Amino acid sequence: MADQADALIVGAGLAGLVAACELAGRGKKVILLDQEGEQNLGGQAFWSLGGLFMVDTPEQRRLRVRDSRELAFSDWMGSAQFDREEDHWPRRVAEAYVEFAAGEMRPWLYSLGMRWFPVVGWAERGGAFANGHGNSVPRFHITWGTGPGVLKPFVDRAREFRKRGLIEFRFRHRVTALERRGGRISGVRGDVLIASDVARGEKSPQEAEKNFSIDCPCIIVTSGGIGGNFELVRKHWPERRMGKLPKFLVSGVPHHVDGHMLAITGKAGASLINMDRMWHYTEGLRNWDPIWPHHGIRILPGPSSMWFDAKGNRLPAPCMPGFDTISTMKAILATGHDHSWFILNQAIIKKEFALSGSEQNPDLTEGGFLDVLKARRGSTATPQVEAFKEKCADFVVRDDLESLVDGMNRLGGNLLDAGRIRSQIEARDSQMANPFTKDVQVMAIRTARNYLGDRLIRTAKPHRILDSAKGPLIAVKLNILTRKTLGGIHTNLDAQALDTAGSAIEGLFAAGECAGFGGGGYHGYNALEGTFLGGCIFSGRAAGRSAG
Ligand SMILES: Cc1cc2nc3c(=O)[nH]c(=O)nc-3n(C[C@H](O)[C@H](O)[C@H](O)COP(=O)(O)OP(=O)(O)OC[C@H]3O[C@@H](n4cnc5c(N)ncnc54)[C@H](O)[C@@H]3O)c2cc1C
Repeated sequence: MADQADALIVGAGLAGLVAACELAGRGKKVILLDQEGEQNLGGQAFWSLGGLFMVDTPEQRRLRVRDSRELAFSDWMGSAQFDREEDHWPRRVAEAYVEFAAGEMRPWLYSLGMRWFPVVGWAERGGAFANGHGNSVPRFHITWGTGPGVLKPFVDRAREFRKRGLIEFRFRHRVTALERRGGRISGVRGDVLIASDVARGEKSPQEAEKNFSIDCPCIIVTSGGIGGNFELVRKHWPERRMGKLPKFLVSGVPHHVDGHMLAITGKAGASLINMDRMWHYTEGLRNWDPIWPHHGIRILPGPSSMWFDAKGNRLPAPCMPGFDTISTMKAILATGHDHSWFILNQAIIKKEFALSGSEQNPDLTEGGFLDVLKARRGSTATPQVEAFKEKCADFVVRDDLESLVDGMNRLGGNLLDAGRIRSQIEARDSQMANPFTKDVQVMAIRTARNYLGDRLIRTAKPHRILDSAKGPLIAVKLNILTRKTLGGIHTNLDAQALDTAGSAIEGLFAAGECAGFGGGGYHGYNALEGTFLGGCIFSGRAAGRSAG
C-alpha cells in the first residue's frame, strides 16, 4: 500500500486493532502505526488478565448472580460520581457501554471466538453505600487465554486483512505531530526508530534513524495512557483528592505507555479533560523478575488479609482488600508514607492471592479448567505466587509474630510496634468464634463465602490468623503501582475528538485509554474493573464504525 489510506491509526494496542478491523471490514484501507516493533503488537492488553465487565451473562446466571442493566448502571453512576460540566460525553458513553455490556457485548465477542472462565470474579466491592462506589455483584469475566485471548480475534482478523491489502502495519514509527490544513486533520509526522529485537514489553531503543510524514484526512489516536511515565503521573496527581504524591512508585505498565501522544493531540486542537482522574493500585509488588523499567505486579487479593498502614494501624472499612481502591489510597497516603502492609498466613495466601497479568497466570492463559482448579486448590499457592513469596523483596515470612514484625521493620523503616500489631490481630481473631461480630472485615469474609465462586477459589475458610497450624505468618510490603489513565482526549459517542469549544474536529478520532476509554473519561472518579479492555473494545469499535 502506498501512502494512500482511508484512515491512519496511531497505536496498535487493543483499541487500535479493534478500530482497524472495523474499518477494514467496511472495505476501507488502513495504515496502523506503532512506535514499538511487531513483537509488541497488542500493547498493554497482551499483559492483562483479560477481565471484562459484562452484565447479566450466562456465566453469572449459572452462579446464581442476579444482575441487570439497571443495577449495573446504578453501580456505575455511584462509582463515577460525575460532577463536571465536561462530564456530559463521558456520562453518555458510560450509559452506552453499560447497555452494550448488558446486551450485544458477550454474544458478539462469543461469535469472534472468546470464551470465559466459569467463575465470575467480584472485583472492587465498594465503599460501603448501596448507591455509592462498587460492584453490587460479581461481574469480572476472565477471558480464557487472559489478555492474549482478548487480543486474538482482533490480531487474527487484522493479519487476514493485511494479506488482503486492507491493513498495513508500520512498526517503529513514532508519531510526533498531527498536521492540520484548513481547519481539518491532514496527516501525521514523526520518526522512524531504529529496528529493535528486544523482547515484548522490554524497553526498546528510542533513537530515530529518519523522519516520515503521511498525508491522510482521517486519523484515529489509540496511543494508550500515561501510567509508564512517572513524570506525567506526578504532574497530574490530584493531591487534594488522593493525598500527597508518593515518592516511590512501581510501574504496572510497559515503558511505551508514555502518554506523549496526549500533548501532541492537544496541540492539534483536541481538548484534554479529566487528566487528574487516574486509577493506580495500592497493592503493588516490586517484580523480582522485571521485564520493563520499575516493573511492578499487582496482587489481586481476596478479602482476608489484614491491612495496616506504614505505622501499623489497621486501615478502617471500606479500606479492605478488593473493596475501594481510591479510599484505600487516601488512607495510606494520609500517613505521610507511601507504603502499607498486608499481614496474613499460608492458608490465606494459598487461597486468596492472585497476581494480575497474563504471564503470572499460565493456567488461565494457556491451560483449561482442570489446570486452574489444580493450581488454585492445591496445598500451596500458585507457583507464581509462591515464587514471589520466596524471591520478592517485599515479602517477610516467619513462624512467629515478633520476628515477622522485626522483618517488617527492617524493610519499612522501624515504624512498627509488635505489641500493637499483636493486639489488633488478636482482637480480630477473637471474633472468629463470635457468630455475630462487629468486625466489618470478618462480616465481609462471611458474605464472600456465601458466593460459590469465592468459596471455591477466592476466600479462605475463616480462621485465626495467629493459628500456628495455618502458618507460617506472612507480611507483604505494598507499594503504589501506576496503571490506568481515567481522563484524556475529549470525544463524543462516535469517538470524534472535540475541540475546547466542544465541536468535533474534522478527521480526528480517539479511542481506548488515551480517550479515557471513551468520552474523555467514562469511569468518572472510580472504576468497576474489567471496564478498561471493555472500553477499548467499545470505543475502538465506535471509532472504526464512524471514521474513514
Ligand atoms: C498487567 C495489566 C493487567 C491488566 N488487566 C486488565 C484487566 O484484566 N481488565 C481490564 O479491563 N484492563 C486491564 N488492563 C488494562 C488494559 O490492558 C489497558 O487499559 C488497555 O489494553 C489499553 O489499550 P489501548 O489500546 O488503549 O492502549 P495500549 O495498549 O497502551 O496501546 C497503545 C499503543 O500505542 C503506541 N503508541 C503510543 N504512543 C505512540 C506514538 N507517539 N507513535 C506511535 N505509536 C504510539 C504504543 O506503543 C502502544 O502499542 C491491564 C493492564 C495491564 C498492564
